This record gives sequence, structure tokens and C-alpha cells, in this order.
Amino acid sequence: MVKVGVLGLQGAFREHAQAIQAAGAEAVIIKKVEQLEEVDGLILPGGESTAMRRLIDKYDFLESLRQFAKQGKPMFGTCAGLILLAREVVDRQDPHIGVMDIKVARNSFGRQRDSFEATLNIKGIGDDFVGVFIRAPHIVEVGNNVEILATHNDRIVAARQGQFLGCSFHPELTEDPRMTTYFVEMVKEATKKAV
Ligand code: GLN
Repeated sequence: MVKVGVLGLQGAFREHAQAIQAAGAEAVIIKKVEQLEEVDGLILPGGESTAMRRLIDKYDFLESLRQFAKQGKPMFGTCAGLILLAREVVDRQDPHIGVMDIKVARNSFGRQRDSFEATLNIKGIGDDFVGVFIRAPHIVEVGNNVEILATHNDRIVAARQGQFLGCSFHPELTEDPRMTTYFVEMVKEATKKAV
């Protein structure tokens, strides 16, 4: 069984751990840098990206997260996690982990619509996936190697670049396992290649 980690510093990490188990993989909540070595893939949860970054710095995670990416291991950023993965964040000088070739803007959907649900058509998953958006970011620009998987109101809300998967919404807050299962499949593929 593949092992999928969830960065457990802040945000909705417990829900992701449950979703990983429901998708048939072993879940490991990552609280210490050394635990990254145990896992084949990693989910960066939603929460608050600036708070998460503070904790990433406090516990010295940044370089190890970049190394994790360099090893070719799959990473899935949801909401704040998507912001952590992006190579560029609007109105911010330096990126966080900065490994996925996308530019993101934070809190994109307006104050009146701080949180909402929308039915999405996600490539490779289906046309009936309910996305839960909570003060969600969106993807403003993608590089050549990035495949757009879903849009909502003409804004990109899910994308994939090889080992990297990112979405604006919270797949772990619904009962629908398809998005997590998609990521677990990416992790399985990557472990096959690594052997
Ligand atoms: N607005 C948050 C941020 O900028 C993201 C919200 C979320 O993860 N639900 O980090």
C-alpha cells in the first residue's frame, strides 16, 4: 500500500488523512521533517497560507519540501496548499515552495462569496464534482507544461503538471473520493516508476 503524507502544521489535515484512507492508501500526518522520508506523496492542505508558511519556517520545512519535489514525488496542494506550491503569488515577492509553474491570486471569489459550492467539470474525473470553495485562490497563469483540469466562472481552479496537482477547492470536505483517488493513483504510478 502506498503511503501518502499530509502536512500537519495547520489547516484541514485530519480530513485529508481520512480521505486518503478512504481512497485505499495509508495516511501519515507529517509533523516533523524526518517523516517526509516515509511517504511516497504529499498533500498540502487548505487553511491559511501565511500561517502555514510561518510554521514551515519555524519547523524548518521549506528546503525539505523542495527536496521532496526534486525527488519526483507527487504533491497535491488544495486551496492554501495550492498557494504554497505556486512559483508566483500575486502581491507577494517570493513564492513559498515555488515548484509548480503556475501563478495564483489569493481570495479570488469576492467577499459576498467567501465560501460556496459549485459543480465542476474536472478533466479525468467527471462533470459532476462538487467543489467546496472557502476564501479560495485561483490560478491566473499556467506554464506550458501545465494542464488545466477545471475552470469555474472562467477562472482556473484545478491543474496538473506531471507530479504536481493543485486545486482551489477542498476535496476532503465532501464525501466524493474521486479527487483524492486521482492523486493516490498518481502516487502509485510514481512508485512504480521509481522501482
Ligand atoms: N485564503 C486562504 C489563503 O490565502 C486559503 C483559504 C483556504 O485554504 N481555504 O491562504
